[in-house]
Amino acid sequence: MGRASRLWLHHSLERLNQSLKGKLQIFNGPALSIFETLAQSHDIKEIHWNRAYEPWRIARDTKLKDMMQEKGIHAESHKANLLWEPWEVAKKDGTPYKVFTPFYRRGCLNAPAPRRPLSAPQDIKFADIPANTSLDDCELLPKNRWKDDLLAHWTVGEDGARARLDSFLDNGINDYKEGRNLPHKPFVSRLSPHLHFGEISVNQCWYSALERYDMGHEGCDTFLSELGWREFSASLLFYHQELKTDPLNQKFIHFPWREAPDDLVKWQQGQTGYPIVDAGMRELYQTGYMHNRVRMIVGSFLVKNLRLHWQYGEAWFWDCLFDADHAANSASWQWIAGCGADAAPYFRVFNPITQAERFDGEAHYIKQFVPELANLPAKYIGDPSAAPADVLAAANITLGRDYPYPIVDAKQSRLDALGAFATLKEIA
Ligand SMILES: Cc1cc2nc3c(=O)[nH]c(=O)nc-3n(C[C@H](O)[C@H](O)[C@H](O)COP(=O)(O)OP(=O)(O)OC[C@H]3O[C@@H](n4cnc5c(N)ncnc54)[C@H](O)[C@@H]3O)c2cc1C
Repeated sequence: MGRASRLWLHHSLERLNQSLKGKLQIFNGPALSIFETLAQSHDIKEIHWNRAYEPWRIARDTKLKDMMQEKGIHAESHKANLLWEPWEVAKKDGTPYKVFTPFYRRGCLNAPAPRRPLSAPQDIKFADIPANTSLDDCELLPKNRWKDDLLAHWTVGEDGARARLDSFLDNGINDYKEGRNLPHKPFVSRLSPHLHFGEISVNQCWYSALERYDMGHEGCDTFLSELGWREFSASLLFYHQELKTDPLNQKFIHFPWREAPDDLVKWQQGQTGYPIVDAGMRELYQTGYMHNRVRMIVGSFLVKNLRLHWQYGEAWFWDCLFDADHAANSASWQWIAGCGADAAPYFRVFNPITQAERFDGEAHYIKQFVPELANLPAKYIGDPSAAPADVLAAANITLGRDYPYPIVDAKQSRLDALGAFATLKEIA
């Protein structure tokens, strides 16, 4: 897990323990040997768990199932993380969908409806099994103060998740269809970390939305289809277990990526000289989250304008995002890079200047995360290097001192990227 995920997990387990009145038992170590020991010392009849789709988890759970069955213990995993299992959504010929829209509209929406959420159990009986560690001994918390700033933006745990969903259904969803592209507006749900850590189920999100609205409501339809993207990513991972490392379009193995460690650091630190990119990268580091529209802009900038390997971006997001998710992160980075399923075509390069004008025209978002540009008129904020000298002086900005010059030329780097992409066409 990345640093942000470990931090979230610590607090999430703390909240879970509170709601279980201090009864949560934590075991740390290889799952197989822990369960082996427990099976020897206790009369265990059945073991149940929620299914997960990461390759290492599938391998572990398969072994666990075999081991338990050999001991005569009933072992069963359940659908809990997804609305539809990957194998429940298939084309007529039985093969998996490769393109999102038919996957969701034709596949998911015509499959049997997802299970309704279950209510919390009234009475849980806890076995008297001593834990082998404590939450603190798991050392999930980072050592520096970064954690305090990050957490200030969130209420970790089930109650926080429910409050987010309710607030989104009261307000955000009505403007969601168009407003979800505006990073400074509160129109997205910000449920992703809660969903990732199972603090709220996707079934609760799905049915809570449908209790208040219906598929004919634009915001509701779009929100449900975004949950569909989550399903699609999980399906891609299930059928392509190497999604994190291997491009789905194998031609991309030959793509001429650049190696430029200094540029990578500038991207990570939000010092590229393109304010919308820098605002996004700083939002990520300061809040453990980045708005989806901006994820696409910073992603495109990394893999196309800087032509750095998408795996560098995937790794940095993995470390910094509270919602870091093996399936969604890998699938989205492959999509951005143009090598994934249903991918944005490689020649579609987001221009960071026009994207800023289009989606942050008043520069509210940029000003929030790049405060050194706060005095610059919104007209120039997407591209301070284009501002006349007197405008920069009036805003108290010296480029290269207060804010960096662009690290690459947006137009030229786009052409270079297209040239590099053209080399793939020759590969059979
Ligand atoms: C480069 C890149 C990396 C990403 N990495 C992750 C990641 O590690 N974890 C992650 O959960 N999402 C990831 N996403 C997808 C998306 O950006 C986030 O799910 C979304 O921004 C979360 O914010 P939200 O909860 O406010 O979303 P909302 O717009 O409110 O959407 C509701 C829910 O739908 C799901 N969802 C929405 N969009 C997507 C999508 N494109 N793919 C998969 N699920 C989606 C999420 O669970 C989200 O919480 C990534 C996108 C990009 C472009």
